[in-house]
Amino acid sequence: MTQIEISKNSQAQEGASQPRNGVSPADEGYAYFEGRIVPMSEAKVSVATHALQYGTACFEGIRGYWNEQQQQLYVLKMREHYERMAASWNVLHMHPKESIDDLCRITTELLRKQELRQNTYIRPLTYKSSCTIRLTLQELEDAVAIYAFPMGNYVDISGGLRVCTSSWRRANSNAMPVRAKVTGAYVNSSLAVDDAKTAGFDEAIMLTDDGTVSEGSSCNLFILRNGKFSTPAVSEDILEGITRNALIEMIGREFGMEVEERRIDRTELYAANEIFFCGTGVQVSPVISVDHRPIGSGQPGPFTMKLQSLYLSACRGEHERYRHWVTPVWFQQS
Ligand code: PMP
Repeated sequence: MTQIEISKNSQAQEGASQPRNGVSPADEGYAYFEGRIVPMSEAKVSVATHALQYGTACFEGIRGYWNEQQQQLYVLKMREHYERMAASWNVLHMHPKESIDDLCRITTELLRKQELRQNTYIRPLTYKSSCTIRLTLQELEDAVAIYAFPMGNYVDISGGLRVCTSSWRRANSNAMPVRAKVTGAYVNSSLAVDDAKTAGFDEAIMLTDDGTVSEGSSCNLFILRNGKFSTPAVSEDILEGITRNALIEMIGREFGMEVEERRIDRTELYAANEIFFCGTGVQVSPVISVDHRPIGSGQPGPFTMKLQSLYLSACRGEHERYRHWVTPVWFQQS
């Protein structure tokens, strides 16, 4: 499987594969930190920071897509990501000084400062910045940091993923705020994907406490079965993915099909004609086997691949009807 590609020097092309041991995002570039854009090497926190001790931060992952023909970098669903981060603030009693408008403006500024003209990943983080061992959430300081780096595909999106159902259940909404993207909660995802990879799979599907399908370790999931698309309902302990919503819109518009949001049994996975993961990181990634059982023909499904191609061209700002999904970074040439 393709590994995460992080390199300042290479053009992050779709399908390109670079080992992760290149330049790490911590080594160079700039970050928004403590109210200013500073060199990445200056964006450092104390080891006593509450967020580091207790996982009390929330984050987003946003992609920028480079359009070679238009010489434009498009940020995908930027406002939606910051709106979701603001919903996470509410859960964690966070009151950073930046507004959603500020964060959209700062992100664009940061990308310009870094001269990013290639596929890019943006990581905003809001964290409890006080240095204290007190566990409570209120009356602590909150800070926002943002950094960005070139990144291509996170997983191999063309060949199809071989996945397993994880023995780690997805954290339940009464134990963890699953709707918020809280850093500490990602131990749950790390355990699942680490076990899956150790066992030779590409990804894990996590089940709810009740044993129904929830999502991948950091992505949502759709199945196509008997001519109908379905995806686990928002009550199935999923993170309410921005890509998931975008694809529900796209499947309606392009295929004229409504997506059922419902409970999905584990064995429905084995009976599906097509399965795909979706998320900012994985984009639209076909699943070709689950628990060693081939899905459909055992090859990436035709609907999945059509959807992937439509999605990626919308991300690159090539479709007028999906222009509202993307924000241009560079000034439009007349
Ligand atoms: N579930 C989890 C646990 C995730 O971390 C992500 C990635 N943010 C997703 C689903 C997909 O969400 P999105 O489409 O907003 O990236």
